Amino acid sequence: MFDVFKDRELAVLWDNGVEAGTLDSETMAELAQKGMTYCEGYCPSEEYTGADRCSCIREIFPSPKDYRLYLAARNRYEKLLQLGLLAKALSQDKNRDTNDNH
Ligand SMILES: [Zn+2]
Repeated sequence: MFDVFKDRELAVLWDNGVEAGTLDSETMAELAQKGMTYCEGYCPSEEYTGADRCSCIREIFPSPKDYRLYLAARNRYEKLLQLGLLAKALSQDKNRDTNDNH
């Protein structure tokens, strides 16, 4: 059974960075690229303890700092991805133009 009090206690410890390690940059880059899926289905920890510090997130990220870093990295990666797609679309347009000229 889900123990709300225990989970909140663990969340507070996590928030305070007790026993915090850090993710190595390789793992962080991989996570940012793939994007994380947590709380698949019902997550009591999310409901009672908080969406930004539920047990799924705490399992992956050693500290809130790592989680915030991941969010920022993910955000940046998605922007780069959009820029990449835009650049690709533009270059395809260019190719089409040159092909038309043949
Ligand atoms: Zn969760």
